[in-house]
Amino acid sequence: MRDVKQLSVSGIKNGTVIDHIPAKNLFKVISILGLEKFDNRITFGTNLESKKLGRKAIIKVAGKTFVDDDVNRIALVAPEAKLNIINNYKVVEKYNVEVPKEIIGIARCVNPKCITNHEQIITRFTVIPGNEIALKCRYCEKITDQEHLNIR
Ligand SMILES: [Zn+2]
Repeated sequence: MRDVKQLSVSGIKNGTVIDHIPAKNLFKVISILGLEKFDNRITFGTNLESKKLGRKAIIKVAGKTFVDDDVNRIALVAPEAKLNIINNYKVVEKYNVEVPKEIIGIARCVNPKCITNHEQIITRFTVIPGNEIALKCRYCEKITDQEHLNIR
């Protein structure tokens, strides 16, 4: 406990801060980005007050920036998310996630009869934008809503 400041959630030297995640979807974002497999330091806070979202979560990943593809996939569960790229403790870049038109291979189809649930086929969905994003399966055309969203 020699340096309490370094233990706090605030401040990473280099890396990415993902802000404005709905609190209930924090672990989905972690899963989509595969953060559970990271060796880097990751800190997060949840149930923080947010005017826009009610309760929000924030994730700070040290020593890592994400490629657009990864980032846009989190739009599925955090369409309002904002990313801050940190370099030497300063925010050098800020951007919002963009909701992709199509999602490939992250989510499961809600339809138990869908071929993607029986054969080794990568799922493909057309994104239906909205307050809560839904996914339309390209194989069976069934719609998977947020409530049934199951991230692989
Ligand atoms: Zn399907």
